[in-house]
Amino acid sequence: MTRRTLIAANWKMHGLRGDLGFIGELDARLGAARPDAGILICPPATLLAEAASACAAHGFLAGGQDCAVADSGAFTGDLSAGMLRDAGASHVIVGHSERRAGHGETSVLVKAKAEAALRAGLTPVICIGETLAERDAGRAEAVTGEQLAASWPARGVAKDIVVAYEPVWAIGTGRTASLADIAAMHAFIRAAAPGGGGAALRILYGGSVKPDNAAGILALDDVDGALVGGASLQAASFAAVISAAQSRRHGLRFADN
Ligand code: PEP
Repeated sequence: MTRRTLIAANWKMHGLRGDLGFIGELDARLGAARPDAGILICPPATLLAEAASACAAHGFLAGGQDCAVADSGAFTGDLSAGMLRDAGASHVIVGHSERRAGHGETSVLVKAKAEAALRAGLTPVICIGETLAERDAGRAEAVTGEQLAASWPARGVAKDIVVAYEPVWAIGTGRTASLADIAAMHAFIRAAAPGGGGAALRILYGGSVKPDNAAGILALDDVDGALVGGASLQAASFAAVISAAQSRRHGLRFADN
């Protein structure tokens, strides 16, 4: 089963219209070294339409960082998945740990958002991952397994869904999980994919992915790409992470970090 690599940028609450030159610069930096991978940029919603046009012109994808459950209605401040699609998105991140922790989002809500994404024709990027306390208590698999099952959209098919394994303690901290832990968690998630379609499921790793650790992470068999926060804010560092996806094509293997 071939799963196309996906390297996704999560800009979080960073970026103004004047920063969108990033997209052309990224293309120029990748040049001929561009790997065969989907390259997805998830800017703040204010930039989505403009970013999506620029992304399309440069062969990149654009995505949202969150969506509402409802398709439309009296939900002041919310954005529906259909609106994101109308603005040019192909994907939407749901259940990022910053929303689970900072906005009290439960897996029940994340599941409803993933269903809304699929209804609108978007690919949901469902984020799951344990806290450090949960890992230290030996509960990493139990917690991520519960999140995966409870966040999975009803009638969802693995090929239409992306899962991002993001250990909470590795996001924005400069700490990454060891290659052995990443490999074990990704294999666990693939085996646990609801409906048994794990072979078709793209599983991204997220958590302080940077130019100097990306090649080792992306070379792991069950790692199908990366969700990148901090290192996606500069075209130079994001291009370096994307270029590291060449390690998948060449089948390189790296010692544990
Ligand atoms: C993220 O935002 O999902 C993320 C993984 O951030 P960072 O790369 O900064 O840890």
